[in-house]
Amino acid sequence: MTLHAPYDSDNIFAKILRGEMPCVKVFEDDNILSFMDVFPQSEGHTLVIPKAPSRNLLETNAKDIGRLFGSVQRIAKAVETALKPDGIIITQFNGAPAGQTVFHTHVHIIPRYESKALGAHGGTGEMADMGMLQELATKISAEL
Ligand code: AMP
Repeated sequence: MTLHAPYDSDNIFAKILRGEMPCVKVFEDDNILSFMDVFPQSEGHTLVIPKAPSRNLLETNAKDIGRLFGSVQRIAKAVETALKPDGIIITQFNGAPAGQTVFHTHVHIIPRYESKALGAHGGTGEMADMGMLQELATKISAEL
């Protein structure tokens, strides 16, 4: 049921796309927006979203999925160059039972550092300092 509910244009990412809520932007083109996760699971946790509305990957058209994952790879490479993590997790959740908390399709790019534990998923961790997020976004976007 949750997988195929109607798209709710009041979700947080739709508001960010309309400029009604702020975000710390990493990258934007006609089809894609990328910004820092405000409850990062690790330093440099970045989100990539298609601009076209869809709740999850199952409802996203194939062309947008191609563009989305092309951008995910490009931004993940920039994260690697900018932040030098030891690994990078790419995750994407479909439906609340799968762990999805914001119902606009998005992909997580989560750098992993051997010496640091991974934070909790889904906005249950600590809200990041905006100045710190801006510094990270500037470093990542400089590598794009
Ligand atoms: P998911 O749980 O996979 O739906 O991921 C949603 C992500 O959005 C979580 O990692 C949240 O920390 C993040 N998030 C929630 N609100 C915002 C916001 N206003 N700006 C940036 N990231 C957000």
